[in-house]
Amino acid sequence: MSEATIIDGKALAARVQERVRAAVEELRERHGLVPGLAVVLVGDDPASRVYVRNKGRRTVEAGMKSFEYHLPADTTEEALLERIARLNAASEVHGILVQLPLPEQINPQRVIDAIDPDKDVDGFHVINAGRLAVGRPALVPCTPLGCVLLARQARADLEGLEAVIIGRSNIVGKPLAQLLLRENCTVTIAHSRTRDLPRVAHRADVLVAAVGRPRLVRGDWIKPGATVIDVGINRVETGDGKARLVGDVAFDEAKAVAGAITPVPGGVGPMTIAMLLTNAVKAACMQRGIALPRALEDL
Ligand code: NAD
Repeated sequence: MSEATIIDGKALAARVQERVRAAVEELRERHGLVPGLAVVLVGDDPASRVYVRNKGRRTVEAGMKSFEYHLPADTTEEALLERIARLNAASEVHGILVQLPLPEQINPQRVIDAIDPDKDVDGFHVINAGRLAVGRPALVPCTPLGCVLLARQARADLEGLEAVIIGRSNIVGKPLAQLLLRENCTVTIAHSRTRDLPRVAHRADVLVAAVGRPRLVRGDWIKPGATVIDVGINRVETGDGKARLVGDVAFDEAKAVAGAITPVPGGVGPMTIAMLLTNAVKAACMQRGIALPRALEDL
């Protein structure tokens, strides 16, 4: 059997970003609307700083307004909630994202609950989780949205396929299950207590690993020809004192069996910011009661 096709997340993310840019241009010209995305960072975690900087840069590249707030590590929960209340009320801000993790004096759930659900571009608010579950228009978490687009690169129509998601977190596994149901897949969510995980994984036409365990999924867990989406980002030592990023799937083994597979890095990761930009445009349109521009209709 031939080797799996590598699904290029970087290239797909660039195409999505280009569609967002076209959509933003249309909104500006036809409605005088410039979507605005606010990102709040508390503290100075180096990885979070990099994410926030990238988000800001990509927001501006897409023609949107970027508002960045860097708050000190000792910010109180009350002060952060006050900042969110002001952003909720600001008409030029259509999307609000609070970078996680937060310092320990701040309860992340209270912060997420405080964001206006219509501006919740991360899709973490309980109202958006509910809207997604019952099939109403919702802001949906970015990583699962990216996973579906990546899977559709390999198989344009996912209808009727067996999908197995390993991992049941609120930000990846559970919302992805809802999205794949919407695609008419037959969905199984596996997790740390699943019995005989290799057997469950092996029935998947679409297998998603969102666990955070390097190379958990082995080649012989994969059904020949399956589409494999690797969400995991794990930093492992290489032995020469350096570190590199690997996914939750043993890539070389999987590549020999799967039909298509996302690499790490360069698969799911780049899609997350692209979907955030999409969500910011969706949020702006929803708030203004404007139909989503054609460029973004099927995203
Ligand atoms: P999480 O820790 O919240 O959830 C992990 C899930 O894996 C849990 O539901 C748990 O039941 C399950 N699990 C743990 N050990 C298991 C095992 N041995 N067998 C089967 N299931 C097991 O993690 P998360 O936030 O969903 O993230 C998962 C991974 O995805 C992490 O590596 C994270 O860094 C990565 N991630 C990547 C992106 C991206 O943009 N690419 C975004 C979010 C998360």
